[in-house]
Amino acid sequence: MNVAVIGTGYVGLVTGVVLSEIGHTVTCIDINKHKVSKLKEGQSPIYEPGLDELMAKNIEAGRLYFTTNHQEAFVNAHIVFIAVGTPQSHSGAADLTYIQQAAKDIALNIVNDTIVVVKSTVPIGTNDIVETIIKENLVADVDVNVVSNPEFLREGHAIHDTFHGDRIVIGAESTEASEIVEQLYKPLGLPVVRTNRRSAEMIKYASNAFLATKISFINEISNLCEKMGANVLDVANGMGLDNRIGRAFLNPGIGYGGSCFPKDTEAIAYIGQEYDTPLTIVESAIKANFRQRELFLQKVLDYFNGNVAGRSIGMLGLAFKPNTDDLREAPSLYLIKELEKRGANVKAYDPVVKHLTQCVVTIREAITEVDAVLLVTEWDEFEGINFNHEVFNSKIFDGRFFIKH
Ligand code: NAD
Repeated sequence: MNVAVIGTGYVGLVTGVVLSEIGHTVTCIDINKHKVSKLKEGQSPIYEPGLDELMAKNIEAGRLYFTTNHQEAFVNAHIVFIAVGTPQSHSGAADLTYIQQAAKDIALNIVNDTIVVVKSTVPIGTNDIVETIIKENLVADVDVNVVSNPEFLREGHAIHDTFHGDRIVIGAESTEASEIVEQLYKPLGLPVVRTNRRSAEMIKYASNAFLATKISFINEISNLCEKMGANVLDVANGMGLDNRIGRAFLNPGIGYGGSCFPKDTEAIAYIGQEYDTPLTIVESAIKANFRQRELFLQKVLDYFNGNVAGRSIGMLGLAFKPNTDDLREAPSLYLIKELEKRGANVKAYDPVVKHLTQCVVTIREAITEVDAVLLVTEWDEFEGINFNHEVFNSKIFDGRFFIKH
């Protein structure tokens, strides 16, 4: 099939690359000229294991193209994906500016009957709005169907997750459109859940809210374990072996960050308030998550009797989780801001994030001649450090229960 993908971020680029790998012809479009020129040269603007190789292979095979021009992207396409960002607005609700613009871009430029597939995470009812915007602005005399197809990939495992996802959710009002989208994914051989559009939109928010709640739950249990002399990792393992619970997302730490959980939990909580149906569990999970990084900071401050002015603090890891360069809502940024505000000097090492002013080049620089070391992201690379021998005279704060004792 001939496909266009709007947005070449973590979701759009991975979707485009994987669809080309399974035999479709894909044109990815982005308004960011710098990104597109890099992509045309075969360079991925994001760090994602396995992505570069697959991109190069499919560009070479003539199945994967990049452009900034909507007309060019849509000229042969019968399926157009929307994978633009839906960031958090000031109110907590999802900001739909990019989605609305993408819908207008489609309306003004498509020349074929088109199935528009909304992959971005959007509030319940947004697919209806996208359809209305397109139909109101349509220039050509063509048919348009809008299908919801939320994405569940994890950054750092995005390629793997797209090939081996647990399910593909297709929410449509038209059976025919739903079947075509199912055919598109057929080579992946994954289970398909077909629903109406609003249920598909809700599946995405409910899934993220549930996983975020699981993390906040184990974090609160962890705080209690610390006071009661219990070992939270043993507790998580003991709980996780129960099939009804499962071990995934029971890793205690300084809380979730990233481009999805923080904004998606806020967005669904906002919708709950808007519809006078408060999601009190999700609201609590959000509060608990923020409190977790505050508690971690407080431990560091307590160690220095509340005064970190002039102290040198090493930080291991900046990305919000391992195997990604994504810093959106990363706890590291909060910690750097709060420590520097109090006069500390932060020296941070991350295997892929290199552009912050606090970055040092080697692990050694971050762990020697410092007053404390904060382990913030559990990168595999840090497993090689013998903390007992290499980190002299400085206190270690392990924000990820990473260091084996
Ligand atoms: P991103 O911010 O990394 O990328 C979005 C891209 O869209 C940017 O490159 C931007 O320039 C481009 N764009 C914006 N408006 C455009 C337009 N009109 N035409 C062409 N390009 C345009 O976003 P992301 O992390 O890939 O997330 C995209 C969506 O997928 C969001 O709704 C997000 O919640 C959801 N999602 C993200 C993940 C994840 O792990 N990142 C996982 C599941 C779902």
